[in-house]
Amino acid sequence: ASLRRSRQLCSQSSSARTSFSYELIKQQYRPEVPEYFNFASDVLDRWAKVEKEGKKTKNPALWWVDGDGEEVKWSFEELGVLSRKAANVLSGACSLQCGDRVLLLLPRIPEWWLLNVACMRTGTVPIPGTQQLTAKDILYRLQKSKAKGVITNDSVASTVESVEADCQSLKFKLLVSEGHREGWLSFKDLLKTAPSDHRCVTTKSQHPVAIYFTSGTTGAPKMTEHSHCSYGIGLTVSGRYWLNLTSSDIYWNTSDTGWAKAAWSIFSAWSQGACVFVHKMPQFSPPAVFESLSRYPITVFCSAPTAYRMLVQHQLPSCTFNSLRHCVSAGEPINPEVMAKWKAWTGLDIHECYGQTETVLVCGNFKGMEIKPGSMGKPSPGYDVKIIDENGNILPPGKEGEIAIKVKPTRPLFLFTCYTDDPEKTKATVRGDFYVTGDRGLMDEDGYFWFVGRADDVINSAGYRIGPFEVESALIEHPAVLESAVVSSPDPIRGEVVKAFVVLTPNYVSHDPEKMMKDLQDHVKKATAPYKYPRKMEFVRELPKTISGKIRRNELRQKEWRRY
Ligand code: ATP
Ligand code: MG
Repeated sequence: ASLRRSRQLCSQSSSARTSFSYELIKQQYRPEVPEYFNFASDVLDRWAKVEKEGKKTKNPALWWVDGDGEEVKWSFEELGVLSRKAANVLSGACSLQCGDRVLLLLPRIPEWWLLNVACMRTGTVPIPGTQQLTAKDILYRLQKSKAKGVITNDSVASTVESVEADCQSLKFKLLVSEGHREGWLSFKDLLKTAPSDHRCVTTKSQHPVAIYFTSGTTGAPKMTEHSHCSYGIGLTVSGRYWLNLTSSDIYWNTSDTGWAKAAWSIFSAWSQGACVFVHKMPQFSPPAVFESLSRYPITVFCSAPTAYRMLVQHQLPSCTFNSLRHCVSAGEPINPEVMAKWKAWTGLDIHECYGQTETVLVCGNFKGMEIKPGSMGKPSPGYDVKIIDENGNILPPGKEGEIAIKVKPTRPLFLFTCYTDDPEKTKATVRGDFYVTGDRGLMDEDGYFWFVGRADDVINSAGYRIGPFEVESALIEHPAVLESAVVSSPDPIRGEVVKAFVVLTPNYVSHDPEKMMKDLQDHVKKATAPYKYPRKMEFVRELPKTISGKIRRNELRQKEWRRY
């Protein structure tokens, strides 16, 4: 069954690209979930075979550049050989058993992809994390996950050493580096001598494939477990219909390796046989993005709203993006103004999708669908998505409530398995027949979903409910606004009022703040329903954000409420 499944995965997507209608997607999407499924042996090895038979384009599986002229290109065959060697390192020198967990703290280097695949082959569960984690973050992750090992590079090694004494389960440390370090195994040395024959473990579809931490926008990040099936099969929807990938595409996703979106650079892309393009880019850099999009034949570009906001602030580059044909955004709402600017520059729409670390794609603007700017699109064919009230009742179109996914009588297989080792927290996500996302939104008459805000971020002013995103989107239309965060602020009469924290664009920073505030308030009153205008405003140099660049409104809100 799993062989049939992998054939199905490869054959469907090696065919020519078509533009789908949403109804067609819903009809076509009939995934089969076999009892046993392993993404490495069932999908990647299958692509290596298709490649060998000359039935796919010559694009590599991975194309990595460092921006200084260094390049790595691996075919599916090379990825197969190297990942089998790496698997032998994991089960040999590292003594990892199937099901063991390991912290994977690497930047965007080829070894991150290699070790992810090696983990699939041995049944090891990688827990990716960003390079920017502090000693406290690493300690929290190691203790919480009881990881047997940590795999990292020179820049994080000493931070790991500073906390390892408090991590009883830690049995090995593997260094990915040109050099050596006392107390660390050398991945480079071990890989060189490791045999290239390795038999991939047989895994049930539900076997964990990775544990990602949520972004920590609202509190301590949660360890979220996904299976070979939820990611390996569930992410094909985003690969095929949202990213619109085939084996002829070169896909660039700028996500940090520490976030669940990085998994889309494995499963969404490789399920379709597409080439994963990676730029090392230690810090997000608009010039590096422009340069790469014009220099390399990248066809599909995937980034976050915060990145798009930075990109459209830059001067129109003289370079042209000849190969680019499709752009997407996820992780936060993207402001219609940013989409309009991007389109004016590139001629391309930004197709937004909504998802969580706990899910795969929940709603999306699939390729070929009419886009309503500001909407998250329509539900993924893999989920039954509804707007529900506090008692778990389904609300009609136009009514605001919580965005939820039906999990009864049958829980979709493409949802996270659990918050690792936390059955209570996992259980708390279910209300009635639904998994509740914690986000508020509404569905319009055409079945499009609109994001209002995280449940905690919605403002209740004198009985009016106001979502921050709509006010922020109105503000950013004004040329003075670079970005903003809208939160509630205490008010003796209204209970709470709308307050905007605004970062001004360089040309406006020296303007008179009183006048600026009045201008922006007037602008919002015109751009949206007048009662939503921010009665309070504060100009700030930057907004508090998570490492992944998401605005932490709750931090601003808490400060605001403490202040009075
Ligand atoms: P934590 O759960 O730790 O507080 P987080 O919710 O930000 O952090 P993620 O799982 O990375 O962690 O992010 C998912 C959340 O991001 C969603 O629940 C939603 O609030 C927001 N989000 C993602 N995509 C979109 C989108 N297109 N529009 C609006 N919000 C989005
Ligand atoms: Mg969350």
